[in-house]
Amino acid sequence: MTATPVGIGVDVGGTKIVLGVVHDDHSCSRLTRIETARRDPAWVVAAVTGYARELEWSLPVGVGAAGAADPEGAVHFGSFIAWNGFPLRAVLEAELGVPVFVQNDVTVAAWGEYLLDPRRRSVAVIAAGTGVGGGAVSDGVLLTGAGAAMEIGHLPVSLGESLCACGRRGCLESIASGTSVARRYAERTPDRATTRPLSSTDVVAAARNGDEVARAILAEAGAAIGEAAALIASVIDPERVVLSGGLIRGGGPEILAAARAAFARQVRVPNDRGVPIIELSTAEQDPIVIGAGMLAAARNPERAG
Ligand SMILES: [Zn+2]
Repeated sequence: MTATPVGIGVDVGGTKIVLGVVHDDHSCSRLTRIETARRDPAWVVAAVTGYARELEWSLPVGVGAAGAADPEGAVHFGSFIAWNGFPLRAVLEAELGVPVFVQNDVTVAAWGEYLLDPRRRSVAVIAAGTGVGGGAVSDGVLLTGAGAAMEIGHLPVSLGESLCACGRRGCLESIASGTSVARRYAERTPDRATTRPLSSTDVVAAARNGDEVARAILAEAGAAIGEAAALIASVIDPERVVLSGGLIRGGGPEILAAARAAFARQVRVPNDRGVPIIELSTAEQDPIVIGAGMLAAARNPERAG
């Protein structure tokens, strides 16, 4: 049995776009990664239309974008691409002549994670990459709210007093994003001269080499994520909480232990099922690409289901 291509999935992140053809068995082919060259919507449109036109199939397109997507598929509030309400769905549909679906990137990642383990019908995703975002499926239904459900980056957490990009102190994102991890490490190690700006990859590598400062910063990121996971568990009662995103892919084991410890300390659920599982994403391919492609296929009027 050959898997049938049903949609194009697009992950528009802070530093790159990942595109792939998604098949009806939730697999993915022709995965392409493009480093972000310009932080404006026109560049994103050119990248997506260029990829779609190279394929011999005319497939619906699903986009998971870092930002808040409204019900019309316009994107707002992205920290990395200057969306400013850009009508991404309308522009792509006009350019490509296929149905287009646009949603927040971690929201579609939650759909991808749900499809990859549909026995558990309620799942929350916390994605720590350039920023921190969240997504959730509740009893088989993707939570979108009015467009910005599970925007968890600015949940207050008790750890630290770091100044966040939003202007407040103590937000989850100010401690647990890749950007924050790199910044906090640099602040605590001013004597370590570097020829280029530090990244979270450098911090993970330092932690693995036994650097105590790096280890502490990753543990704090994990503890903040665990604390946020406990808050989320109280609100939506997931069966599992999945950690994903670039920082987690790099430093997952170091972060997970601290996240689990903080989660266990703080989570309270009023049922006899026990507390949710908290685990790293096991998706072999980008869950945003898979979730976005499958959502586009499901909402394509020509191929319902
Ligand atoms: Zn904030």
